[in-house]
Amino acid sequence: MLVTLKEIMEMAEEKNIAIGSFNASGLEAIEAELAAAEELQLPVIIQFAQCHEPWIPLATIGPIMVDMAKKSSVPVCIHLDHGETLEYLKQALELGFTGIMYDGSTLPYEENLANTKKAVEMAREYGASVEAELGSMGKRETGAGDSGAGTDDDTKIYTDPDLAARFVAETGIDALACSFGTTHGIYLTEPKLDFDVVRNVRAKCNNIPVVMHGGSGVSTEDYHKAVDAGVRKINYFTYMDKSGGNAVADYLKTLKDGEPVFFSSIFMAARAAMKENVQGAMKVFAKED
Ligand SMILES: [Zn+2]
Repeated sequence: MLVTLKEIMEMAEEKNIAIGSFNASGLEAIEAELAAAEELQLPVIIQFAQCHEPWIPLATIGPIMVDMAKKSSVPVCIHLDHGETLEYLKQALELGFTGIMYDGSTLPYEENLANTKKAVEMAREYGASVEAELGSMGKRETGAGDSGAGTDDDTKIYTDPDLAARFVAETGIDALACSFGTTHGIYLTEPKLDFDVVRNVRAKCNNIPVVMHGGSGVSTEDYHKAVDAGVRKINYFTYMDKSGGNAVADYLKTLKDGEPVFFSSIFMAARAAMKENVQGAMKVFAKED
């Protein structure tokens, strides 16, 4: 069933878990994510990032995402990830998305604040909820293959809990993406996470659900520490995407010389591997593993 980001965050709060939030890179990814959630009977967030337009346009995949969520046996939030303009957010809301993230993290604070307020106002008209970001994770949400993804860069700014308190109170957002040491993409060095940032943000922001971006490649122990500190949504995609790619590479090795390669066989191999990978992540985020 389709639920809002606010509703699914309340479910996470009640159980003291984080909900896995997975990107919809295409139909196979959505099928893998929903099948994983239904088998485990866990709520799930399926999101589409604006920077993934070249993979498939929001206008094409958005209605499919909403329709599949409505038919699912588990609570599903359909969320826009890293929306960079208000027009794009509106497009997602028009399609029936139940959560939107406005990402103004690269803008000066006052501009991020003003635009986030507008995003909240707009989302309320559609009954949807809003995630916004304060601080900066450094690398943008460009996914695997981004040269240098995962390296520490000097644009990474940890979220200031006092500023977060002001930002949350003034905007009325439902979830806050915090920067506390994670990075988008593949980690080249082991991440060092500062859970005090999460705890302090929660303490000063009326226990707002904290969102962890760059959730691939973190140890099980650190995921559990993040959940205990108050992380309620974990964006996880890179390693799932890699699992699909690896499955295709393995499948191709099984073919004999001259044997034809069928695309349908490739996407089935990728889908099965992605489902398994997503299930592993979901169990960890729900502290079942
Ligand atoms: Zn992100």
